[in-house]
Amino acid sequence: RRKWRRAVEVLREFEEGCATSIGRLGQVVDAMAVEMHAGLASDGGSKLKMLLTFIDNLPDGNAKGTYYALDLGGTNFRVLRVRLGGKGSMIISHQVEYHPIPQELMSGTSEDLFDYIAMTLKQFVERADDGSEQKADEKKELGFTFSFPVRQMSVSSGILVKWTKGFSVEDAVGKDIAQCLEEAMTKAGLNMQVAALVNDIVGTLALCHYYDKDTVAAVIIGTGTNACYVERTDAIIKCQGLLKNSGGTVVNMEWGNFWSSHLPRTSYDIALDDESPNSNDQGFEKMISGMYLGEITRRVLYRMAQESDIFGDGAYNLSIRFILRTPSMAAMHEDDSPDLREVRRILTETLQVPHVSLRARRLIVRVCDIVTRRAARLAAAGIVGILKKIGRDGSGVASGRAKGTPRRTVVAIEGALYVNYSMFREYLNEAVVEILGEEAAQNVVLRVSEDGSGIGAALLAAAHSSNR
Ligand code: ADP
Repeated sequence: RRKWRRAVEVLREFEEGCATSIGRLGQVVDAMAVEMHAGLASDGGSKLKMLLTFIDNLPDGNAKGTYYALDLGGTNFRVLRVRLGGKGSMIISHQVEYHPIPQELMSGTSEDLFDYIAMTLKQFVERADDGSEQKADEKKELGFTFSFPVRQMSVSSGILVKWTKGFSVEDAVGKDIAQCLEEAMTKAGLNMQVAALVNDIVGTLALCHYYDKDTVAAVIIGTGTNACYVERTDAIIKCQGLLKNSGGTVVNMEWGNFWSSHLPRTSYDIALDDESPNSNDQGFEKMISGMYLGEITRRVLYRMAQESDIFGDGAYNLSIRFILRTPSMAAMHEDDSPDLREVRRILTETLQVPHVSLRARRLIVRVCDIVTRRAARLAAAGIVGILKKIGRDGSGVASGRAKGTPRRTVVAIEGALYVNYSMFREYLNEAVVEILGEEAAQNVVLRVSEDGSGIGAALLAAAHSSNR
């Protein structure tokens, strides 16, 4: 009996630690807006890097012609060709091909890596070219999605800061990555130039904006999390003089690294961070994204196993870090069978704790719910924080507009957590309405976006093409 009570106590304590009252969420909204200001004021002024993209012209559906894209961000790369019909006709067609990157090229020289990519791209261009509208000798334009840390110097150039995700092509670090690619393309005899070098989150914004001009921000919640948005150029204090246009510029927030003392953090979060290879980094991401939600849940369940006998005494697998992945945790959370069959299956097969009582399985579902609800509500607060910063949260103060002249505002969202995990999506949507209030929320649309890192990049190449 006492042991059961102890498990319930662990749950209660965790639930209290994760509380996201509307007051608390309001503090997170304000903190996000404040940190955005600080990150725009000076480099290093905030944990939010607020990186400049130099993208000042989002696709609007008027571009015409054939454009290419290259998406390099993992162990595969994609090449795409997009045909745009101009006003009204939108995307006529697109072709895409996936190619693996040979293992040895991931740790070789930059010349070998880019020669390989350029050759693959050239063969793709030749295969895809149906001779329909481009002259063979005409310079082709490419949108290059490069999802590694880059210090951007212009819309089409940027220096690689460091590799991540298993790459170690060391001589590329410190070089202009667009130039590396262009040199290889020239060598390969491919008449193509990089019109836009972009991060994948920016591609998402571009694609959504192409379909809906009220789109002002994009958020990804998948393995990791990030956001970007359109900022008034004159509000980017750290770059005054550097940016020419007078309108808006896209800022890549790198919001996974956001931090505020108002975030509801528990001992489980602290331990997860301490034991991670990047402790003190990506604090917001560690509470929100797919890489971590299953692991937070596992830590709470492990504590329950240690403090009570609800899992019997053989719960050894629960001590293995990252053994409970977020999709499994989501499946337990969303198990609607009366006897929680799916929970039992995952407990047995993944965690190797069979014979857990129905009552204890219900407790497990509660833990999943607490973890996901907190994550979704914090992401919602982050989104409203962005809207507040740009005067689109309906408060009518920052925007200088009189109340009663609402403007429609669209935020593009992608990533498996929002798209495939319906409880997460519902909690997020609900929290946005709760924070903004019913009335203001009517003007805010969260729009599920396709993966924009391919087509979005081609559209950005069109928008920043030198042929325009
Ligand atoms: P990316 O890796 O580019 O972010 P996704 O947006 O597909 O790609 O996100 C994958 C992440 O989402 C994985 O880390 C996984 O943990 C999580 N995930 C995938 N499917 C689901 C699901 N049905 N429910 C909850 N989480 C999921």
